[in-house]
Amino acid sequence: MNRPGSAPDSFEGGAFHPQLPGGRSMGTLRITGQSIRFESPHGGMEFPLSGVQVEMGGAGHRMVFFKHAQFPGCSLFTAQKAILKHPELERDPAVVAQCKQGRRRRLLAAAGVLCLLLAIPAGLWLAKDPVAGLIARNIPVAWEEALGREVFKDITNRVKTVASPEVNAQFGRMLEPLFTAVGSKRYQFKVHIVEDLSLNAFALPGGIVVVHTGLILKADRPEEVLGVLGHELAHVTRQHGMRTLVQRVGLMVMLHSLLGGDAGSAMASGADFLLGQKFSRDHEREADDIGMDYLLRAGIDPQGLVTFFEKIQKEQAAKLGDMAEFQESLTFLSTHPGTDERIERLKKRIARELKGRSFAPAVTDFKAFQDQLRSQLGGKD
Ligand SMILES: [Zn+2]
Repeated sequence: MNRPGSAPDSFEGGAFHPQLPGGRSMGTLRITGQSIRFESPHGGMEFPLSGVQVEMGGAGHRMVFFKHAQFPGCSLFTAQKAILKHPELERDPAVVAQCKQGRRRRLLAAAGVLCLLLAIPAGLWLAKDPVAGLIARNIPVAWEEALGREVFKDITNRVKTVASPEVNAQFGRMLEPLFTAVGSKRYQFKVHIVEDLSLNAFALPGGIVVVHTGLILKADRPEEVLGVLGHELAHVTRQHGMRTLVQRVGLMVMLHSLLGGDAGSAMASGADFLLGQKFSRDHEREADDIGMDYLLRAGIDPQGLVTFFEKIQKEQAAKLGDMAEFQESLTFLSTHPGTDERIERLKKRIARELKGRSFAPAVTDFKAFQDQLRSQLGGKD
């Protein structure tokens, strides 16, 4: 009974009611001045319009459901959304508010889905190393330095750095040719020796390099220390830490903005992450290659890096029985994956490029330097 040009006042629909056969029946919904009435061959029911609850439901929220507190367990429904445009319903502020809320909820849900759909490809795009590299290259060096300082401050809260000016000056002289070979215009390297007997060294964004006393004292030749440092300096110049951070933080910022939270806390967890970060195998290979370029340019025998790796592997095997000591000694290996394969690659390159080339010792008084460092630590090593 639809009047042309106006909203219909009867709608195909149905009802759920415990007293209907099978609990439900199909029929017609009709809106009168004060009520919404259901009629069917099996029986009917009537909800007062006042206090009626309107909900969207069913697959794709395509059904309109009416419920009423006075009729628990019963509901009326129709797939004809035009019912919501009925003048009697549009006149009821409570019904209008419910419809609006439902619309807002559906819009929010749709917006959420859209954001996720956009964030996934954007996140994947950011997670690509060349993209992260491009972003990292455009990060001001002052930001990298600030981040590196922040992480270093955290380290020095936990461990002691070697303060002796003579030891640091000697170590600086030993590293000078390597720094010159790197020839970075962007970074000013600053090396700190940290009192820690594990075989480890690592570099932070911005150019702070941390060397553990264990690495220096257990080295048989200065080339082992220099080999590791060449590798670490390459991590800095190739911005491996920043690249990994950009990938990680990029994704986190996006998730934070989607799920609430702020970019600041994402950056803060980024700094935490730098402390325990593990570079990808690609980054490790790149640092090996470029680190070796630096060593060769500085005239330093690159075999040192290989013998260092072999030493650390031997140490790993020897300490398998003592878990605590084992884990402590493993920091370098655990943050530098793929050692076996990398040793093989380095050896192949050395065999290929350095046949018959000889190198002058990098430092002549290395043992004296080790003794002096040891004396700073009160004789322990
Ligand atoms: Zn590395």
